[in-house]
Amino acid sequence: MWGRMKVSGAIAWNATKGWVRPRFLLALVAGILVVGTGIYLDQQAEGINEQRLRSSVQDQISLIRARLEGSINANIQLVRGLVSTISTEPDLNQERFAALAANLFEEDGQLRSVAAAPDLVVSMTYPLEGNERAIGLDYRSAGAQSNSVFRARDTGELVLSGPVSLVQGGRGFVARFPVFVHDGADVRFWGIVSAVIDIERMYTQGGLLDPDLAIDISITDRSVASNSLPPFFGTALTDNPVTAEIILPPGRWEIAAVPKTGWHRDPLEVWLLRLAVVIGGALILLPIGLAGRISKDRQRHLQELTQREIELEAISRRLGLALDSLQIGVWDMDMETNEFLWDDRMNEIYGLPKNGFRGYESWRERVHPDDIDRAEEQFVQGIRDGGFVAVYRLCWTDGQQRTIKSVATVYADAQGNRKILGVNWDITADMALHDELTTANALTEARNVELEAARVNIEHNSLHDSLTGLPNRRYLDEMLTRNACGGFGGTRSIALLHIDLDRFKQINDTLGHAAGDAMLVHASGVLRENSGPNDFVPRVGGDEFVVLTSAVEGELHLGMLAEKIVKQMRQPVKYEGHDVRFGVSIGIAAAEGEEIDVKRLLINADIALYRAKGRGRNRFEFFSEELQAEVVRTKRVADEILSGLERNEFVAWFQPQFDAHTLEVVGVEALARWQHPTEGIKAPDAFLPIAEELNVVATVDRLILEQTLAAVARWDAMGLNVPRASVNVSLRRLHDEDLIKGLRQLAIEPGRMSFELVESIYLDENDSIVSWNIDQIKELGIDVEIDDFGTGYASIVSLQKLRPTRLKIDRQLVNPILVDHGQRQLLASIVDIGKSMGIEVVAEGVETMEHAAILRDLGCDILQGYAFSRPLSSEKLEEFLRAKAWKQAS
Ligand code: C2E
Ligand code: CA
Ligand code: CA
Repeated sequence: MWGRMKVSGAIAWNATKGWVRPRFLLALVAGILVVGTGIYLDQQAEGINEQRLRSSVQDQISLIRARLEGSINANIQLVRGLVSTISTEPDLNQERFAALAANLFEEDGQLRSVAAAPDLVVSMTYPLEGNERAIGLDYRSAGAQSNSVFRARDTGELVLSGPVSLVQGGRGFVARFPVFVHDGADVRFWGIVSAVIDIERMYTQGGLLDPDLAIDISITDRSVASNSLPPFFGTALTDNPVTAEIILPPGRWEIAAVPKTGWHRDPLEVWLLRLAVVIGGALILLPIGLAGRISKDRQRHLQELTQREIELEAISRRLGLALDSLQIGVWDMDMETNEFLWDDRMNEIYGLPKNGFRGYESWRERVHPDDIDRAEEQFVQGIRDGGFVAVYRLCWTDGQQRTIKSVATVYADAQGNRKILGVNWDITADMALHDELTTANALTEARNVELEAARVNIEHNSLHDSLTGLPNRRYLDEMLTRNACGGFGGTRSIALLHIDLDRFKQINDTLGHAAGDAMLVHASGVLRENSGPNDFVPRVGGDEFVVLTSAVEGELHLGMLAEKIVKQMRQPVKYEGHDVRFGVSIGIAAAEGEEIDVKRLLINADIALYRAKGRGRNRFEFFSEELQAEVVRTKRVADEILSGLERNEFVAWFQPQFDAHTLEVVGVEALARWQHPTEGIKAPDAFLPIAEELNVVATVDRLILEQTLAAVARWDAMGLNVPRASVNVSLRRLHDEDLIKGLRQLAIEPGRMSFELVESIYLDENDSIVSWNIDQIKELGIDVEIDDFGTGYASIVSLQKLRPTRLKIDRQLVNPILVDHGQRQLLASIVDIGKSMGIEVVAEGVETMEHAAILRDLGCDILQGYAFSRPLSSEKLEEFLRAKAWKQAS
């Protein structure tokens, strides 16, 4: 693949590492070499210089040595001649001596004087002048001179001593020659000849005092081996002097010399040389240093380069991996030369063999004919815009069709050549997937639509009544929970009509459920018809509906609406040939304002409905504050009744009954009274309706019965004649399955008790329990009376069926008989019916004795009323019975 970078960074890296030491070593070695060479050269120069100096010094001292040696030897030789002469002429005198000696002295000669001392006493000198003082010097007692004299005598050898300060002045060497005289074979010591050599002249002639002399010279006497005398000429030289020996007849001198300037070279020369060395060294080291620096730079560059190569390698590898794993092909085109770079993956994508790409034509051949124009246009446009993203199809030679995505960007390379770099990848699978997904998505959407429809349907079902199609109780509850009716009908004024069908149960029971359903559908239709488009009309119970509507038009309008509904509902409905009738009661509650509590509204409407039903059905009632107050009061009374039952506040009062003819007491009617803890005695109308609602009337009945039985027993015990007592029995009590069981336990004496039942009981003739209970009551010897006879729907047939012991004409019928003739006749016929059926007739509400007389005449058997006595507590009754006051009244 062309895009791959060849990186050999690792090798270069290692190599550069290895370079560090040699470079440093090279510089070190070069430095050492240069310094060494410098030192060597310096020392070499020093050595050569010293050598040169030495040989020059050597040359000079050789000359001096030669001169000194020559002159001393010459002088000694000269004196030896004299000595030889003396040994042959031991007796010479001063003149002879002077004559002989004179030959020794010449112009510029070094001999200053000669003296002869036969037997060690100086007796002759030459020249005499100036040396006169020496004459007569006895060497044996001459102090310092004696030693050398004795040594010369004893050794027989010449002794040279000095330099010594001369008596004549100045300094000189003194040579002492022993003189022996040969006398036949006998040798006799004659004496000593001393010659003084002028030291100054000797030095001068030896060249030692030459002011131009460039060396320092010292001369030391080395005649005696262990001698460590200081030099007699010059100062001791320690600086490695050049030496030479002056061999003298009586010993040797060492002449030592060093250059005046010392062995060391001229500092200038030294420094010039050193400078030359430094320059030379610099010329060597500088390039090395430079090379080193360059090498270091190079090394750094190499390192950087290596680092970059490593990074590049990493990037390249990642890119390679990315391209490989994404299967992306890369191409690159030089826009000046139209030269293409086209990698292997591109060939794969285009279905070309390896290296099968032949430039633009290859591309063109492969692009789908339908896509080629667009692809080319996108390419051209992309070059103008700096890049493009394109999708097109390819047709491979084997017929395969692929879809690819092509992304390219225009750029300028390092040389400023405009190029376009692009990538291609195969998206055939993606497209297929995309298509699949699109299909799947469409399917899902369709399914979602179905589901939504189903959901809507379910929701609708859950919130609607299937029979009538109206919203259901749940729907209403939800609305109430959300209090969502706040802005009902666009107003802030809402009315709620609670509608309850009357007689629905009977229809259901008598005509069947289908009829009931039909009535409900009918009723819902009526409600729909009468409600507006914004009204909400749910069915909230078996036979209950609600109309939620705007109250903005006021109570009158609502009343009219309710009236209309009531009226329409009363119309008979045809069902399977029957004219079915039912009615409705409606409770209405309305509210206005920003915050309307619709739940409250429902409760209020319910209260009103209750009132409507209470007031006789087929009517509507508005909820009002008074109604509310009444409800509250009722509630309070209900509570009081319940606690009153617990506290035995209900007591039996008794109203006596009289024989119409004899006016004897024939019985009493027990009437319930409530001994209210704060309000005193209350009559049944103050508590019975509420007790009815509380379903406790049967309990009251039972209590009253028990109290009555107890009272009867007491009266019996008291000897008061109360033949019979009657109690009022509520319908509910007659429905009680356990009534008879309870009655049996009371062990009621047959014939002493009577149960007053209201007429309406007979409508329930179907109820087997009621019939059974009534039969059983009779069985127990308890009389059955029909109470309030003449007010309800009782019929002659039911009288026959029930066969009561007595019937009790309602006081409403009794009351008008004084004035109303027709009423009297009605009573007369009731009495006749009773008589004909063997049923005793009781008249209640007998308020005056006039009434009593008429009723007696009409044939009533028994009379009960205020004319004789009001209902009395048992104590009062007992008093009454004892007093027999009524007899007087009558
Ligand atoms: P009711 O059975 O018709 O009882 C007779 C009612 O007529 C009594 O009213 C009594 O006080 C009243 N009354 C008697 N004489 C006259 C009269 O000359 N003129 C007028 N205007 N009224 C007269 P009370 O005691 O108020 O009872 C009312 C009703 O309450 C009773 O009517 C009865 O239906 C019911 N009731 C009374 N006690 C009981 C009871 O223990 N159980 C049941 N279930 N009902 C009872
Ligand atoms: Ca009664
Ligand atoms: Ca009555």
